Amino acid sequence: MKETDGLRYAGAPRYPLMPAWILALVEPIGLAAKLVPQFLFPLIGLPHMMHFLNRIFHTCLISGIALSPLSAVAEPLVTPITALVAPVDGRPQYPLTRTESIACGHWDKNSQDYPYFGAPRSRNTRNHAGVDIYPAGGAGSPVKALADGVILKIAPFYTRANGEVTYGVLVDHADFVANYAELEKPEITVSAAIKQGEAIGRVSGTRQLHFELYTKGTTDWLQWYGKQPDNLLDPTDMLVKLLYPNAASPGKSDGMAAESYSKTPAN
Ligand SMILES: [Zn+2]
Repeated sequence: MKETDGLRYAGAPRYPLMPAWILALVEPIGLAAKLVPQFLFPLIGLPHMMHFLNRIFHTCLISGIALSPLSAVAEPLVTPITALVAPVDGRPQYPLTRTESIACGHWDKNSQDYPYFGAPRSRNTRNHAGVDIYPAGGAGSPVKALADGVILKIAPFYTRANGEVTYGVLVDHADFVANYAELEKPEITVSAAIKQGEAIGRVSGTRQLHFELYTKGTTDWLQWYGKQPDNLLDPTDMLVKLLYPNAASPGKSDGMAAESYSKTPAN
């Protein structure tokens, strides 16, 4: 496996490959930038630049691009994205990245239902611990394992306003742990081995796969209150690569504005 085409999830929760000296340099500047009135900056000001740099670092991290020799001592946990398969078939109905999902026009401004990681939930007391993927096939669409794994937990996850109970399935994929949630009651069982691409279950009436990503060794899913939990990872970049393998950006999906959608306050 090439070191440059992998995902690194181990080590520090956010930027395991970012050398400490870069963090030490960049974070105070970013903080200071936030404290300075925006009008002091030209159109593309320092805060924007810092955000841009942050995205570059993050992209490098997800792409497995080593930012310094220090990366050689990071935990050697690497799962190449090319070795994973997408959890649903086809191009999703709605984008899942923060920028695209806000821009797509499908959700109200300040919505509690945005599909992106970290989106507000429960009147801003909680953050969205995963991303919501709306498969093209809608309710009943199969949800597939990203990789070989073992089923750790199956339990009710979220109950819809109409009483439908949806389920979460926690899978140990060795290098990482994933929660495939808001499914119809699955037919698989705890401790069963599952093969890559094998069906874990089907999307429930919420019409979405709620997907959470955790560091290896995680044994339960969680809700995100306050600071981002150390074992909870942002799956956005990984899923974008899997769901839109030929696109530079998820872009807008076809027909998203035309569709009427019941805004159930999903997880
Ligand atoms: Zn969700």
